[in-house]
Amino acid sequence: MLSSDLLSQILGTTLVPTDLVFAPDLIVVALASRAESAPCPICGQRSDRVHSRYRRVIADLPICGRQLALILRLRKFLCPNAGCPRRIFCERVHGLAATHARSTTRLAQLQRMLGLALGGEPGSRLAGELAVPISGDTILRRVKAVPAVPLRVE
Ligand SMILES: [Zn+2]
Repeated sequence: MLSSDLLSQILGTTLVPTDLVFAPDLIVVALASRAESAPCPICGQRSDRVHSRYRRVIADLPICGRQLALILRLRKFLCPNAGCPRRIFCERVHGLAATHARSTTRLAQLQRMLGLALGGEPGSRLAGELAVPISGDTILRRVKAVPAVPLRVE
């Protein structure tokens, strides 16, 4: 197995690592999509007509006590469906991060769990020690973002 395939599996994505930078407190992994086409999020038709490229930076769980930043080089495609209201759409990274999110789903889950267990400011202090710095207010927003499950009364 190639090391880039192994890293892709560890990160849980089909994106291919293109660069790796180590800093004292930070590891940066640059990733690019290897998919030849992407489905339009509105009509579902696949397109391989690239309109432009864009960069997205998202934080992930730390590695060896260092913060991990993923720099995704993604594409915008032209929708081939003339009847679709969306002419241009962005490539999605399913399973890694929500649309427009600046952290991976797994990092957001960890931060939410810290908020549920400790609250805002104490969770923020522990998060800093775990190399996933976040403000107390953001931890509370993560907790509030998940709808409460109603209790079942029997
Ligand atoms: Zn479309």
